[in-house]
Amino acid sequence: MADIELRNLSKHFGSLAAVDDIDLDVEAGEVVCLLGPSGCGKTTTLRMIAGLEDATAGDIFIAGARVNELAPRDRDIAMVFQFYALYPSLTVSENLAFPLHAERITKEEIDRRVREIAGLLDLSHALGRVPGRLAEGEKQRVAVGRAVIRDPQCFLFDEPLSRLDIAVRQEMRGQIKQLLNGLHKATVIVTHDQIEALTIADRIAVMRDGIIEQVASPHDIFAKPANVFVAGFIGTPQMNLVEANVIDADEDTATVNMLGQEVVLPLHAEISLQGTAPRRNAPVTVGVRPRGLAPASETGPTTISGQVDLIEPMGAETLIHLRIGEDDLRVVTSRGHPAAVGETMHVAPTPGQVHLFDHDGMRIAS
Ligand code: ATP
Repeated sequence: MADIELRNLSKHFGSLAAVDDIDLDVEAGEVVCLLGPSGCGKTTTLRMIAGLEDATAGDIFIAGARVNELAPRDRDIAMVFQFYALYPSLTVSENLAFPLHAERITKEEIDRRVREIAGLLDLSHALGRVPGRLAEGEKQRVAVGRAVIRDPQCFLFDEPLSRLDIAVRQEMRGQIKQLLNGLHKATVIVTHDQIEALTIADRIAVMRDGIIEQVASPHDIFAKPANVFVAGFIGTPQMNLVEANVIDADEDTATVNMLGQEVVLPLHAEISLQGTAPRRNAPVTVGVRPRGLAPASETGPTTISGQVDLIEPMGAETLIHLRIGEDDLRVVTSRGHPAAVGETMHVAPTPGQVHLFDHDGMRIAS
């Protein structure tokens, strides 16, 4: 039994299905990130779990009990919002201790928990300070600490790091991951920041238009996207997604017509065993990440050729845009790779880096 279970959960605002018949399980000790573009229903899902929004249909279970009719305070959850609210006149220690005053525990136990949480969140040095004398990252850590100190059944985080600047955000990602690892609670985090989701989550639920497109580990979301939407949404620079027609296919290659060229693509052998090998003449979408294309010195059966249109230095790497007819193919090379605008460049997909999607955009092979 999972600690949080959502069954056929929906939320309608008038005719809009903000959340549309979703199922999700979050085990104790597991961190699940709801990730997706603005308006896809992430926050509404979280607010329904918290009890801040009534579900239109479906069931919410926390620790096995149906909680749809319970008030937020009776659901044994703690929520951390994007906008942290600390008591400005109380010290860090008093802010952290505040949620414990309603519980029947001794002053010694309160002090022990405050010191423990402060240690976990690297706040021990600041226990005597008021919020006005804290850096932004420290304030957010106090907000997180105040939510987790009560030892609730599960945690809900709504864009917890989005207000912080990049350097503090990077540091906090690691700290939150460490903290959550030590607390063994079911946790749901809403974010639109894929790096945050890929770093912190045990599993990611990618949402679009109120539905969950895929739930999987960060590795599988990235390496085995279930459909064209997830493939295009995850990863920077974005995966190349190119319409193609299958000329021929066997268990480890597919010969396709793409971008006006005949190209032999390397595939994983596993696909023919699954019986999902691409069919001859079938229209497919070929997905290759820009880092999954390697420059080749000359043209060959596995290469795609195009004209260098734009060169974008990215530090250690360079993003090259190849123009092929009306299409743009993005390739990431190492910084030193020679390239000049206007010249012809050949690239070949690296084995293991090709994704094939069927006519409906669903994954058929890689
Ligand atoms: P964001 O990342 O921008 O916060 P989100 O994925 O969290 O987006 P939600 O806030 O859950 O998305 O909103 C989902 C949809 O429901 C959106 O189209 C939004 O406009 C709509 N919506 C949310 N709350 C309400 C409301 N109270 N009344 C009407 N429509 C709403």
